[in-house]
Amino acid sequence: MPELPEVQTVRATLLPIILDARVESVDIHRPDIITGDSSPAALLVGQTITDTARRGKQLALIGSGGSVLIVQLGMTGHFYIPSSSTDLALPHVHIVWTLRTTNRKSVSLLFRDPRRFGELTTLANPAALDARWSSLGPDGLEITGDHLHSTLRHSARPIKAALLDQAVVAGVGNIYADEALFASHIRPGRRCTRIRPAEYHTLADAIRTILAQAISRHGSSIRDYRDGSGQPGTNQNHLLVYGRGGLPCLSCSTMLKSRPIAQRTTVWCPSCQS
Ligand SMILES: [Zn+2]
Repeated sequence: MPELPEVQTVRATLLPIILDARVESVDIHRPDIITGDSSPAALLVGQTITDTARRGKQLALIGSGGSVLIVQLGMTGHFYIPSSSTDLALPHVHIVWTLRTTNRKSVSLLFRDPRRFGELTTLANPAALDARWSSLGPDGLEITGDHLHSTLRHSARPIKAALLDQAVVAGVGNIYADEALFASHIRPGRRCTRIRPAEYHTLADAIRTILAQAISRHGSSIRDYRDGSGQPGTNQNHLLVYGRGGLPCLSCSTMLKSRPIAQRTTVWCPSCQS
């Protein structure tokens, strides 16, 4: 499932092509994936894409007329410019935009989502985007130990569940929560109230570092994540605990444990993490 590094990679790979491109038309095959106004104008037709933004796992395109399009990839969503027009005929291509780039090329921008947990949302103006994103916690790349400590010190939740809460930290999901807790030597089932201030600082440092490393490797392609040009990332080759329950810890060789926390499979080392 795409998390912050994957969405940031999609944004970075699309940006050189879509920035200042004019949206000429849109073909909507599945209107029910759009929340809000689904008219062509709300989907940026007739506007130039003047900016992009990201908070956590949400990506936004901002049009010259003020319209905002929020893209959420969900589990299996792909938002990309294909290298071949044959992708237009793939199943589960729900929306196709035709853009005219600054160097006068016509390109297709696709939203494809086999399982349809992804979502597009249209907003009338950037102020509505600010209002919507105000319910999210700080972006994972900017999370601090002070914020985690002040937000969570009275919470009885397991720390793993808290890290999945987008109102606590935006952009961390199951993969990077497990990786950050391993790097911090903190067991995912520990209650937030039992975590010391110094550990919150270690955890925040680990979250920022692990997310930045994953961005530098173009994200983790676990099932079918692809970047904005349709290419997979390589960070999946560097994960230390995610998906490795029952295998030996890469640090100490103890068998990694696994159990659901907040309905998500959680993996940790009983020896390295306490
Ligand atoms: Zn270990």
